[in-house]
Amino acid sequence: MDCRLRFHHNHLNGHLYRLKMVESPNCECGVEEGANHVFFGGEMREAQTTELHLDLMNLGQRPPFNICGLLATEDTRILRRLYKFLKVNGIRV
Ligand SMILES: [Zn+2]
Repeated sequence: MDCRLRFHHNHLNGHLYRLKMVESPNCECGVEEGANHVFFGGEMREAQTTELHLDLMNLGQRPPFNICGLLATEDTRILRRLYKFLKVNGIRV
């Protein structure tokens, strides 16, 4: 997960659009679907996004959050929390 997200080679529409594999770079809400949008842009998953924000703050992180910065951490609690967010929301990256 972390390498694909960090280097922007993933299964999100923003990347697939650049490869001409999908017709739009946007997610269902109309905003470009990149990693930060998936984790933190979430009108589509508002409750889970709010819970993620609170958990990251409890782990010592402060907004605004950036997925590349979070993935660079050696704190496995943060990485596990991000992975849980993807799993709970059925997001494949
Ligand atoms: Zn969206």
